[in-house]
Amino acid sequence: MSERQPGWAVQLSAASADSVSAPSGDAAAERVPGTADAVAWHTLPAEQVLSRLQVNGRAGLGPDEVGARRERSGLNCLPAAPPRPAWRRFLQQFNNILIHVLLGSALITAVLQHVWDTVVILAVVIANAIIGFVQEGKAEKAMDAIRQMLAPRAAVIRGGKRISIAGEELVPGDIVLLEAGDKVPADLRLLHANRLQVHEAILTGESAPAEKNTGPVSLDAALGDRACMVFSGTLVTCGQATGVVVATATSTQIGRISDLLSGVAPLTTPLVQQMNVLARWLTILILLIAGLLLVYGHFAGHYRFTEIFMVVVGMSVAAIPEGLPAVLTITLAVGVRAMARRNTIVRHLPTIETLGCVSVICTDKTGTLTRNEMMVTSVVTSDFAFTVDGAGYRPEGGMSLADQLIDTSSHPVLAELALVASLCNDAMLSQREDDWKVEGDPMEGALLVFAAKAGIDSEEERRTWTRTDTIPFDARHRFMATLHHNHARQASILVKGAPEQMLGMCSRQRGANGDGELDAGYWRAQVDTLARQGQRVLALASRTVRPEHTVLELADIQGPLTLLGMVAMIDPPRSETLQAIKQCQGAGIVVKMITGDHSGTACAIGHQIGLRNPDKVLTGLDLDAMDDVALKEAVKAVNIFARTSPEHKLRLVMSLQSNGMTVAMTGDGVNDAPALKRADAGIAMGEKGSEAAKEAADLVLADDNFASIVAAVREGRTVYDNIKKVLSWTLPTNAGETMTIVVALLLGITLPVTPIQILWINLITAVTLGIALAFEPTEENTMRRPPRPRQAPLISGALIWHMVLVSILFLCGVYGIFSYALNRGYSVELARTLAVNTLVVMEIFHLFFIRNLYGTSLTWKGVRGTRVVWTTIAAVSLAQLAITYVPALQAVFATQAIAWMDGLLVIGVGMALFAIIEIEKQIRLRLTESKRATPLDE
Ligand code: ATP
Repeated sequence: MSERQPGWAVQLSAASADSVSAPSGDAAAERVPGTADAVAWHTLPAEQVLSRLQVNGRAGLGPDEVGARRERSGLNCLPAAPPRPAWRRFLQQFNNILIHVLLGSALITAVLQHVWDTVVILAVVIANAIIGFVQEGKAEKAMDAIRQMLAPRAAVIRGGKRISIAGEELVPGDIVLLEAGDKVPADLRLLHANRLQVHEAILTGESAPAEKNTGPVSLDAALGDRACMVFSGTLVTCGQATGVVVATATSTQIGRISDLLSGVAPLTTPLVQQMNVLARWLTILILLIAGLLLVYGHFAGHYRFTEIFMVVVGMSVAAIPEGLPAVLTITLAVGVRAMARRNTIVRHLPTIETLGCVSVICTDKTGTLTRNEMMVTSVVTSDFAFTVDGAGYRPEGGMSLADQLIDTSSHPVLAELALVASLCNDAMLSQREDDWKVEGDPMEGALLVFAAKAGIDSEEERRTWTRTDTIPFDARHRFMATLHHNHARQASILVKGAPEQMLGMCSRQRGANGDGELDAGYWRAQVDTLARQGQRVLALASRTVRPEHTVLELADIQGPLTLLGMVAMIDPPRSETLQAIKQCQGAGIVVKMITGDHSGTACAIGHQIGLRNPDKVLTGLDLDAMDDVALKEAVKAVNIFARTSPEHKLRLVMSLQSNGMTVAMTGDGVNDAPALKRADAGIAMGEKGSEAAKEAADLVLADDNFASIVAAVREGRTVYDNIKKVLSWTLPTNAGETMTIVVALLLGITLPVTPIQILWINLITAVTLGIALAFEPTEENTMRRPPRPRQAPLISGALIWHMVLVSILFLCGVYGIFSYALNRGYSVELARTLAVNTLVVMEIFHLFFIRNLYGTSLTWKGVRGTRVVWTTIAAVSLAQLAITYVPALQAVFATQAIAWMDGLLVIGVGMALFAIIEIEKQIRLRLTESKRATPLDE
């Protein structure tokens, strides 16, 4: 669970907190000289700020008031940079060396008056640009939608109630609650600050967090010295606060200095960038070879210059993988969209690649593996053990003792315990129709429900017992304390927290017959029993203090507390968790639970969700006692770490990484940020996570669900596979086409395909078949393979061998059918038509082969293909039929209609190619004896 425990009410002196309805007649506050600030809010006392903004500090703005103010102030967001105009986006598609070479070729063919060649080359360029343009547009939209999903929210008090709203809905005068990990949503004048520290580097450049308080400062105080103000965009690193919005949107400090929101980040990853660089170098190499061929053909082969020139142009265009950059971008965009559909928002694109290598997932327990829907089921006092009935957050249900319903009024300790549960609590319980909802921490919600079942009216008690000070919950000290006063001049400190922590802070315990010495052994036994059932246990204590005591210090609670009892609550595992963990285990990914909870509870949950080795648990204390060497060894075998604080996460990540593992780590609190940054894939929780954690993370889980992490890993593996498939299809295909021409030139024999025909093949296949692979669904055995080693090269030795093999087979197929046709006495045109169709058919069969890199392609599912695959094949086939049978096109491409028997033969050649490469793959799989070795993987 995170440290999200906002104070729920504005803590002002009685006078300032009361309603202030009219602008006071105070001397007009000074403007800040030389700035556009209408009012120097930092110079005014909090009461005057509220008065000038005409807002009640306790109740906040009413709905009508909010509407009226929004009309005046507009939405609280900075204007986005205007989108790139469509024409510019289109033109940018041509800004690529691969395309420049093609444009150069088009120009030269035009000069040589080979009009049709020019047309076909230009068609390639334009088709490519259109596809790039359309897909990029889609990708930009997807990224925009993702950005919307990440829009920050703000906790405010409106109409007397604490609610959570989108940050952009804030208006001047709104009362905002802040806590550690929050990003400040607007410029606020602080009304109350409790140990508040804010990281303001984006405004002041100061790397250390600034301490904040509520006292006004002088007019000329620099931004960094305005301690009573917090500014939009800065991060709360510690403490809690309440503030009133004084400026929104472009009126905020950040709004004035920052540029427009940055434009769209390019959709790329290091791997894709590398591939684009490779494509560029390949182009240069091709041009070099083309030059050599030109010289060789002209001088040694005695071809006419224009003739050899056209051949070399055709060959170069066929060899250049001009579609590759666009297709790889599409592959990434498809992956990002698929992840968003599965509730994972990718903040940092390169992580998509890393996800496929993840070998260990370190996950929180509460809310990620479990539902975070808690319910108190038992209560233990020093004399009794009660059970609590009910379902969910509905505050209905009885309490029983030894299966007999009891009346809480006859158990004063129980009633006192329930009172502490409701007052030392920041959550709010509300009813919407028949549904009960919790605003705030679900665990505290469960405590409110328990208090209600015990007959406590929390709202009434909160009014009676005003909270005067708070020590907020922090995952490092694992308790929360509040100080309360009532009108009868009574004062109490109330504390709740992790039992081990609390036992050290209590010296006495409350019993039915009065207070006595703390019996720590009894309580530890109770905690163990409850934790072993997978329940989360919390201890509650109190201490009466003198009414003059108004400031809560740590010293006030270290020792003199009286323990009232313990509550235990269930938080069942999510139903999908078990299955997701099994999937990870099948995929060679170790799952480790790192929780702040008790070791007994963690162990029981570990058993329930099927973690390996659930009885071995290391606690934060154990970790502290180990040096790095011991820890490096220990982390291998242990899968549960309990009572850890965020600092332990960082050590664990580093330890796992030193064992050569690729680590995905979840986090939600502000203190989790270092571990999230250090992990290979840092994953923040979208629902309960703080803004600080989200900013540090690579991925954000919209639903906080562990199963979504596993889905993201699956998607990461799919994206990598698809990039590999695109390459494994494109490179050998291009090589095959090129070799067909090179061999003819070198041997000085008749070309089996003419330059314009090779240009045509390049046109119709590169923009159709190549793209189909970007949309390939996840292969069935994707999560039954071990993770890919990080160093595994994309273009492996096996891929190079595949390129060689396919090129040779393409040559055999094309030259085979060409000589078959000539031997049968067909014209050269007809023989070439057969050769062209054979090339295309072989490419189609090669596509079917590539679709299954990790298993056999000879399955019904493989044959059934996908809609994208069949659509592209239909398009290519139609185009082939057109150039083979439509007279006008026959004239352009010098083709002739082929007989259907020969057509079948062409398809037979394709099938033969498929059979050979499939058999080769099967032999490989058998030889390595394990499914994990793939034809193109080592
Ligand atoms: P996870 O780390 O798996 O999300 P967690 O919620 O148990 O689990 P923390 O939020 O670090 O982790 O909480 C650690 C312990 O602190 C809890 O087990 C509980 O005993 C105690 N605790 C949690 N929230 C509060 C709170 N609001 N007030 C007092 N004590 C709390």
